[in-house]
Amino acid sequence: MALNKKQTKIDTPSVVNIGLIVDADNYVSQKWTSFLIENLDNEFSRRFPCFSWEFSIVERQDFPKNAPVDPLFLLEYGADIKIEYGFDYVLLVTTLPLLSRFEQGINGVPSNLLEAAVVSLSKILELPNENLQRKAFLSLTKHCLGHLWGLDHSANTVMKPRKFWTGQPPLDWDKKEEEQIKQNLKEIADPRIEERGGIKSKWRFYVKMLQEEGLSILKDVLVVRSALMMFHLGRSTAATAVSIIFLFLSAEAWEIGSAMDSAWLDFALVFVIICATLSFYFGQNLQSISRSDKLKEQAVRSRLVLLGTIFMGMFSFWINLFVISYIVINILPQGVLAEWAGIHGKPIPDLHFSKLMATFGLMASAIGGNLEKEQDIKALLIYTEET
Ligand SMILES: [Zn+2]
Repeated sequence: MALNKKQTKIDTPSVVNIGLIVDADNYVSQKWTSFLIENLDNEFSRRFPCFSWEFSIVERQDFPKNAPVDPLFLLEYGADIKIEYGFDYVLLVTTLPLLSRFEQGINGVPSNLLEAAVVSLSKILELPNENLQRKAFLSLTKHCLGHLWGLDHSANTVMKPRKFWTGQPPLDWDKKEEEQIKQNLKEIADPRIEERGGIKSKWRFYVKMLQEEGLSILKDVLVVRSALMMFHLGRSTAATAVSIIFLFLSAEAWEIGSAMDSAWLDFALVFVIICATLSFYFGQNLQSISRSDKLKEQAVRSRLVLLGTIFMGMFSFWINLFVISYIVINILPQGVLAEWAGIHGKPIPDLHFSKLMATFGLMASAIGGNLEKEQDIKALLIYTEET
């Protein structure tokens, strides 16, 4: 059924296609999903009449059945189904509690990157009456969809961040958010590259993608928490700290530094950032995210956003290391450093050495990064939040 809908989508580009994925054996989540569709369909058709809304339920036998279920797994699982059926967005509805990584006890996890969200009824069904349960479920779903459609948190609307979804107001988007959603959906509703056909080569597909979507990919990269990425990764940060301390205290590092030409160091820096990015990407098996073999626009887009995010993460981490090194160099006794660097009596070229130390540190962190648990890094990159 969903495939037929996809074909009509080429003729009517203003269709927004949402897939709701549920466990085929779980009657409760199916019942609540039907409730969701009834409400959202009515409401969205009224509020966003410039789009034609299509909701399809996909009942899956292979839906995970063990609690707590890992939202990361569900998001990846949903992203595959999304690409397979050609949905614009997918929502995975489960009655199982979700495994939380960064917060305590969570009800939903949206992922802008995968254009998918997981919503759990587990805690909501414990609310005292059905009226509250309905309100809580609808507002949690709207909050997650709001994120998928590019909204940020806001204190006075349903986009208010919450630990508990209890059905208390605010339960809705405001006028401004409604407009923002319209704008974002307009971009999505355009036919995708593969639907327009004609491109067979992998490289041409990527180039076309960058031409058309370059700016919006860049926006996504900046929105994803790339700058904070490295600080969440304890092991690679520790590896970096240890290696930088040893570098600072070893005369050899200073000797190498003073022998190194500044232009060469710039070249080495670019090289190290690119290598570190690729090492992270492939070392952590991130290329397997949305692993459809075909060149689907969304899959390619996710990969580019991921690569871009890691690159930006590495670069901003380098800047931090640079600033720290600069401060440390200026605190340490200049005479000793000059001795180590073999430049007796002259002032230490602090910018040059800060650059060198930061670059070495980044190298260490790339190696340390591969000590991280693959699942944690993936979750950090994929989740928009845990709510
Ligand atoms: Zn949120």
